[in-house]
Amino acid sequence: MSETYNIMNKENWDLLVIGAGSGGIAAANRAAQYGQRVVLIEANVLGGTCVNVGCVPKKIMWYATDIAETLDLAADYGFAFNKNATHGFSWPILIAKRSAYIEHLHAAYQRGLDKNSVTVIKGEAQFVDAHTVSVNGHLYHASHIIIATGGYPTMPSIIGAEHGINSDGFFELSEQPVRVMIVGAGYIGVELASMLSALGSAVTLVLRQDKPLREFDAGISERLLQVLKKAGVTIRAHSNILQLEKTTEQLIAHFDDASTEQTDCVIWAIGRQANIKKLNLNAAKIKLDNKNYVITDEYQNTNVTGIYALGDVTGRAALTPVAVAAGRRLADRLFNAQAQRRLLYDVIPSVVFTHPPIAVVGLTEAQAREQYGDDIKIYQTEFTSMRYAFSDNANKTWMKLIVQGAEEKVIGCHMIGNGVDEILQGFAVAIRMGATKKDFDDTLAIHPTSGEELVTLR
Ligand code: FAD
Ligand code: NDP
Repeated sequence: MSETYNIMNKENWDLLVIGAGSGGIAAANRAAQYGQRVVLIEANVLGGTCVNVGCVPKKIMWYATDIAETLDLAADYGFAFNKNATHGFSWPILIAKRSAYIEHLHAAYQRGLDKNSVTVIKGEAQFVDAHTVSVNGHLYHASHIIIATGGYPTMPSIIGAEHGINSDGFFELSEQPVRVMIVGAGYIGVELASMLSALGSAVTLVLRQDKPLREFDAGISERLLQVLKKAGVTIRAHSNILQLEKTTEQLIAHFDDASTEQTDCVIWAIGRQANIKKLNLNAAKIKLDNKNYVITDEYQNTNVTGIYALGDVTGRAALTPVAVAAGRRLADRLFNAQAQRRLLYDVIPSVVFTHPPIAVVGLTEAQAREQYGDDIKIYQTEFTSMRYAFSDNANKTWMKLIVQGAEEKVIGCHMIGNGVDEILQGFAVAIRMGATKKDFDDTLAIHPTSGEELVTLR
């Protein structure tokens, strides 16, 4: 684990940040804006998971499928487009443009860091002691150190697992797979299944249980299951792959019910783990939980004074805005005398970029019942968006509000349908502020939209 370094060659900094992903960049910039001398260590390229192998390339792919759907609808509106055609879609063209866009983001991040005078060092950081880190054989000392090293995809430990890829590998595919098997039905599994299916791949989704997104409100997971099936995704529920075999032609998945299925590409989407492998955390005596996430309190403090952790490496709500907010608030607390400033990890809005998208904030019905028993009320609606006025077989939009107590405080909002990804943000503000059903009812509708349904629920 340890490496050789020159102890005479030690630099002193106010803040050292390990990892230039969403959380690390946010914390470094904010601290530097408060006049701190900040060094940011990154083993790879700027931007971390979100920019390089997460939200950004994923959303580009999602827009491609959104456009595919619009082209499909175009004939209904009188345009000369054939339904269910590929419309000449070129995967290589999209991938090349996506890469160029990400390059442009790298440059934009670098400009932002330069503007704030954050020093970026390329290399792998490793703790030497609680206030010293070594990178490329050079020592860096800082009174404050932030661990923001993110996560990496879990691979299964079965024979032949290496013949499959994970989400990182998905973003490296230079050609679209004709047949693809996706294992795991969390955020990544369902987003990739929905996207690849909409772009024309034959998709099998392998679930070890019965439904996708099991942690979500039951109304969402049930409807998503139907939506995926309707889109042509083959669902293999209660299935586990025991072995993955590679032949010259294809991959063969061997299932626990003794059946087999041939495919061209297997994508493991079975969760992610904390990226702590190279950090030598023992040297600083930093404590981990039983899943190897860095333990932090509500202020992002680890068990060691002066060392903090945030973002995916802490295992709490692995979302970019969560890492960014935790990073900025930590810098506010440490370097701008805001002693109580911290991120509250409740009421976190989130969107799953399936087709149609899913948008959720607050408690699910099951969580609300567990917390409040019968002191909750459910309002819901299901309707066909006017966008599909001329379509025979459109997915319906479904919205559910969960309210609590006599004043009917809104404690949960769950939606699936066209446009809900963009509708949720404003409602999340209202819910964060403690809005009641009456506040929703007293808000004038915007007509004709899907969003107006949320303020006209009966
Ligand atoms: P990261 O962004 O992962 O950054 C960690 C950085 O630390 C990396 O650059 C890494 O190279 C570096 N590093 C690690 N170890 C060392 C070391 N020893 N020395 C130096 N550097 C090191 N979230 C959303 O909110 N919306 C989405 O739509 C969304 N889509 C996603 C899609 C996919 C496929 C994936 C995988 C994730 C998605 N996420 C999304 C989650 C989001 O990407 C993460 O929550 C976010 O990037 C976490 O930020 P972070 O700062 O904690 O870590
Ligand atoms: P998730 O934790 O969301 O889902 C993991 C899935 O893998 C679950 O369906 C789980 O099944 C299944 N699984 C776990 N172990 C196995 C196994 N051994 N065999 C088969 N299936 C298994 O992880 P993801 O990797 O999808 O995403 C990681 C995180 O990244 C997300 O939780 C989210 O925070 C973030 N993310 C956010 C996105 C967004 O904001 N749009 C998009 C993508 C990622 P089961 O249901 O049975 O437990």
